[in-house]
Amino acid sequence: MRTAASVRATKLTCKETIRLICEYLDGRLSPGVASELRMHLDDCQNCRMVLDAAQKTLATYFHSYPPPAPAAKARVA
Ligand SMILES: [Zn+2]
Repeated sequence: MRTAASVRATKLTCKETIRLICEYLDGRLSPGVASELRMHLDDCQNCRMVLDAAQKTLATYFHSYPPPAPAAKARVA
């Protein structure tokens, strides 16, 4: 028995997520992909740790590298 809610058309794997993190930090992801990425990060502590480490690395390189905007909340209309 499967519920529709548990089936997501585009579910990122950890591998894909980690590969996308660089582009995410660069602001190069399309909004749709970025939101998939954040959805995965919500669920997956491992990938959050990778993101965190990547941000720290970037911060080290660029010193004042601005952190990615906090997940743009769905616009409050
Ligand atoms: Zn993951």
